[in-house]
Amino acid sequence: MRYGPADSSQTPRFSGPRTFMRLPLRESLEDVDVAMIGIPTDDAVSFRSGARFGPEGVRSASVLLRPYNPLLGVDVTEHLSMIDFGDSPTVPGYHEETLARIRAFLDPVHRAGVTPICIGGDHSMVLAELRAAAAAHGQLALVHLDAHADVWEAYYGARYFHGTIFKRAAEEGLVDPSASVQAGMRGTLYGASDEAEPGRLGYQAIPWPQLAEMTPQEYGDVVRARVGDRPAFFSFDIDFVDPAFAPGTGTPEVGGPTSAQALSYVRALTGIDFRAFDCVEVAPAYDPAGITSWLAATVCHEMLSLLAIRRRDG
Ligand code: MN
Ligand code: MN
Repeated sequence: MRYGPADSSQTPRFSGPRTFMRLPLRESLEDVDVAMIGIPTDDAVSFRSGARFGPEGVRSASVLLRPYNPLLGVDVTEHLSMIDFGDSPTVPGYHEETLARIRAFLDPVHRAGVTPICIGGDHSMVLAELRAAAAAHGQLALVHLDAHADVWEAYYGARYFHGTIFKRAAEEGLVDPSASVQAGMRGTLYGASDEAEPGRLGYQAIPWPQLAEMTPQEYGDVVRARVGDRPAFFSFDIDFVDPAFAPGTGTPEVGGPTSAQALSYVRALTGIDFRAFDCVEVAPAYDPAGITSWLAATVCHEMLSLLAIRRRDG
């Protein structure tokens, strides 16, 4: 038994319930390789809220996705049994309770040997994802594309915010910074010391101006060398992409990669042992033409392709 998307040559792709890529909505993890999971939360943002509607936006855009990825030469349905596992529970207004419920929702996914691809939701949710993934797989190598390093100490005196997560993740030992790479950072900061913070925590940081000088292949080689054969977690914040291409997000930073460039950096990450993925910070209310959701859906398809290639090549 292998689950796959509905056949769009038989029923129109704009019909039926909006699951990711028209995958079946399933509560059972049996016979499943990959579970697409929505995490509708945006309590821990510092500026524009609205990412709680991200999963809905990305699922709606994803119905246009087709199985074959011509740039990577792989049909995701050929190598992966995929379902939409629905949305994680959240508790609006109670961020730490939300984190606990996400963690409890993801634990059985990892225990079943299923790879989650989580659609956010603001980036604060990654802490719950990492707690679940690290409990199952041990300390993880982090591969992170974002306009922000998200290693600030606190906002308004509170330590759990979408901009503090990778400092908390390092402190909790969920990730091994010495095996991790953050890339894409740009924009104004509070001071020069902000720029040094990822390095102080042990992360390798590649700010966008430096990444822009690297070919995707060079970036992929740097990440593969750093991650090695460790279990890895891939976190893609949609604000990595220039707001001209991804305006539907909470804290946009101008002067970043095009959507084509961003996708090419994701595609370069073949050969890494990813145990979990997310694509976060899509806020459809600021996305009038839906382009941010199209992009996020395509990023998720590239993630599926990376998994499919790894499975195909053993
Ligand atoms: Mn960001
Ligand atoms: Mn982020």
